[in-house]
Amino acid sequence: MSASSVIETEGLTKHFGHIRAVDGLDLSVHAGAIFVHAGAIFGFLGPNGAGKSTTIRMLTGLLRPTGGEARVLGRPIRDRLRVGRSIGALVDEPAFYPYLTARQNLRLLASLSGGARAEEIQEALKLVGLDQDADRKLHTFSHGMRQRLGIAQALVPRPRLLILDEPASGLDPEGLAEVRDLLRRLSEEGMTIFLSSHLLGEVEQLCTDVGVISHGKLIAQGAVGGLLAGGGPAVRLRVDDARKALSVLADLPNVMAAATGDGSIEVGGERDSAQLNELLVRAGVRVYELRPAHRTLESFYLETMRAGKSNDRPDAEKAENDNDGSG
Ligand code: ATP
Repeated sequence: MSASSVIETEGLTKHFGHIRAVDGLDLSVHAGAIFVHAGAIFGFLGPNGAGKSTTIRMLTGLLRPTGGEARVLGRPIRDRLRVGRSIGALVDEPAFYPYLTARQNLRLLASLSGGARAEEIQEALKLVGLDQDADRKLHTFSHGMRQRLGIAQALVPRPRLLILDEPASGLDPEGLAEVRDLLRRLSEEGMTIFLSSHLLGEVEQLCTDVGVISHGKLIAQGAVGGLLAGGGPAVRLRVDDARKALSVLADLPNVMAAATGDGSIEVGGERDSAQLNELLVRAGVRVYELRPAHRTLESFYLETMRAGKSNDRPDAEKAENDNDGSG
């Protein structure tokens, strides 16, 4: 394990009966570049049921692995108690008491793990921007404020590593921006953050590194910049029949194509614009627009999931999961 490694897993596995929730996971999360003071923000991505929460539960000591190894801040996860105060975690929404204030709730939660000084609680409230609201009762808080308070309870021990399961879940755009700014600030102060999310746009804006998990296995991992730069030049197309275009493009070797949210198609790989245009027109697809595109995390993710589906699994399992509608 390298000196800057914050989370390292080798063959980490968790079975629930016959379900392989996490299946031989080799994950590597680093503290950020040397000489850059900001900590890394690692986004853990994958469809519903891929094994993200199970992994996070093992890393935070809430679940015992069936097999494999994991080290968090250099220590095996079975020694977790010794690194407890260096790790802050928000795994499930904390059970806050609605008729206690934010400060009282934090004090109560901290008392369950050895207690905290009043200044530590004040500092955590300040970090998440709730110091002005600290003495308001929780039932008057918005979902975004509760989410920030959840992060505050993870910050009370002033951890070096913050692990968050779906911190953006259920937030409106304003709440998302609040949590994004908060996580950026914490990373600028040197904290390493590991978070799971379904919101690819958010992850692209926020994270320095990502890992993609599918069916309990890691199928991609790396720095966001490097992953988005890979795969050859990207081209964005607007055509009359996207379905037909995708099927033509799917037959080309070393070309990856994905439909984007706005009805256009993003193509990466070893064909330039002129070649793509010629191939599509020859197949009877009318091309209205064709321009260089910045590759997005969404298209990278969709390509990776598709490649994972067609490469790794037996046909029967593929057919079953291709119809499961998860995303
Ligand atoms: P989501 O994005 O929906 O939260 P996830 O990637 O976090 O999904 P997990 O919650 O880790 O996925 O679930 C992985 C698999 O393990 C799923 O098939 C799930 O049904 C199963 N699983 C998780 N926890 C348990 C449990 N306690 N008992 C049995 N099966 C479980």
